[in-house]
Amino acid sequence: MGEFDLIERFFKRPTRQAALGVGDDCALLQPAPGTQFAISSDMLVEGRHFLSTVDPFKLGHKALAVNLSDLAACGARPLAFTLALALPRADAAWAAPFAQGLFALADAHDCELIGGDTTQGPLNICITVFGEVPLVNGRSQALLRSGAQAGDDLYISGTVGDARMALEVFRGKLALPAAVFEAARSRMEQPTPRVALGMALRGIATAAIDISDGLLGDLGHVLKRSGVGATVDADIAASRVAARAQCSDREQGQWRDWALAGGDDYELLFCAPPSQRDAVAAAAHSSQTAVTRMGRIDAERGLRLVDAAGQSLPNTYVSFDHFA
Ligand code: ADP
Ligand code: MG
Repeated sequence: MGEFDLIERFFKRPTRQAALGVGDDCALLQPAPGTQFAISSDMLVEGRHFLSTVDPFKLGHKALAVNLSDLAACGARPLAFTLALALPRADAAWAAPFAQGLFALADAHDCELIGGDTTQGPLNICITVFGEVPLVNGRSQALLRSGAQAGDDLYISGTVGDARMALEVFRGKLALPAAVFEAARSRMEQPTPRVALGMALRGIATAAIDISDGLLGDLGHVLKRSGVGATVDADIAASRVAARAQCSDREQGQWRDWALAGGDDYELLFCAPPSQRDAVAAAAHSSQTAVTRMGRIDAERGLRLVDAAGQSLPNTYVSFDHFA
């Protein structure tokens, strides 16, 4: 099978919303009147972002999920994506399940593949997603990192830390009961992008980011861009580790670490004024996504960590950095 057969067989499908899809030198997208495109790229490299043994179906899911998560963080509605793929071999046994996992998630979000590039090389997957955000009176409704205000509540969606627990098991540093491991592993291999929540938070949240490099590290980006500080309840964050309910007390001390700095969570961290608490609850309800208030934004710069009793904790967490 050659490059063009591979594209034809696995990645070319009839276009639905795009003006032009796979097959020409460019794809064409028509922005709807009164909207902006939200655009983001994420690359997944074997050995760095995924293990070589991962199921290709799950890899197809994850490659798109991490990109959709960026759209979710901006409150954008997914429209389309491109796929740049380096593959060691034109291998149907790999490409077929990869495409299935990719398209299953794409179809669930009505996001179509409109083009890409395919080349021989070490396995590497780069996706660019295109989403849409409305303009209201000429103002973009996109959620940004820069809008947090002193006094805002600080929230996270879903659960955090489970992907990191699964990674620790793969690294041989942690043992978990089989059922707990399977649940954590699916959080690592098939994260759920919080697209519906992001869209529901437009006009409510003052700032948002998706958690890919660890909760506190990503919060740091919001604080820096917004010129504010924050106080975070580490025990509330730790309570959001899903595996916790089924674990023995043995791992207790590490839950905070996994929740606060685990990474690969693909949950949304966002801020909203206390006057919007009912609206945040309604957005959580309509998007069927759990949301937990876990801190507040302060005028005083810096990040303060406290425990459930309000005692301050040392913050020694660092964000994941590929070149650190
Ligand atoms: P060019 O050489 O002009 O860049 P290519 O020959 O690389 O074009 O690609 C042919 C067509 O197939 C283009 O429309 C491109 O967008 C599409 N394409 C290539 N690889 C992929 C892929 N992995 N998934 C989807 N579309 C792809
Ligand atoms: Mg060309």
